[in-house]
Amino acid sequence: MVRKLESLDREHPITSQRVLDALRTVPRHEFVPPRLRPEAYEDRPLPIDHNQTISQPYIVALMTQLLDLKGPEKVLEIGTGSGYQAAVLGELAREVYTVEIREGLYKSATKTLGDLKQEGLLHNKKLETVLGDGSKGYALAAPYDAIVVTAAPRRTPDELIAQLKLGGRLVVPVGDFFQTLKLIHKREDGSLVTRSIEHVRFVPLKE
Ligand code: SAH
Repeated sequence: MVRKLESLDREHPITSQRVLDALRTVPRHEFVPPRLRPEAYEDRPLPIDHNQTISQPYIVALMTQLLDLKGPEKVLEIGTGSGYQAAVLGELAREVYTVEIREGLYKSATKTLGDLKQEGLLHNKKLETVLGDGSKGYALAAPYDAIVVTAAPRRTPDELIAQLKLGGRLVVPVGDFFQTLKLIHKREDGSLVTRSIEHVRFVPLKE
């Protein structure tokens, strides 16, 4: 899967070795329903419980690469789902908080992440799963160096911008049916630079 991602001919190629190594480390088959395990390393989104989806590996890689994590960061993810993206973030940053609104998914992701950590397959220093509504971020652990939203709000919630540190980055798919993946960089002077990256399809963020 990672070899394919490396050689993909796309407008935004995955070039970060750190990101590719993290994708190599995290066993994606552990995050998908057992009957779909044979497909876990195809570059496709897959259904998980409660009508939600585990994102396509390319999109996980792209969003992670856009966050430009170097190691010491505190990161927030909104939309834990299977826990896969959180596991990838956990390999790349010092502290990860991930918020899920559906209790069933919160419980199963917490268990998967805990089991894999215990088996020594994940190496995160601190990875905390949180049950709750993340549409307004997670103020308890704010501010963050990076925030990634894996469900689509209609527009970027102000609270997420407020919970970013100066110099921080927010990656969020914005829109209804047609969504654009945005990278919002909060500069050291507090001003925002927004880049539209590409068109994407995510499940809606409950708002
Ligand atoms: N990152 C996930 C994929 C997430 S799918 C993975 O790697 O598997 C989007 C998730 O966002 C779903 O699990 C959905 O329940 C959750 N979600 C939707 N609205 C939310 C909200 N307001 N707060 C927290 N989670 C939310």
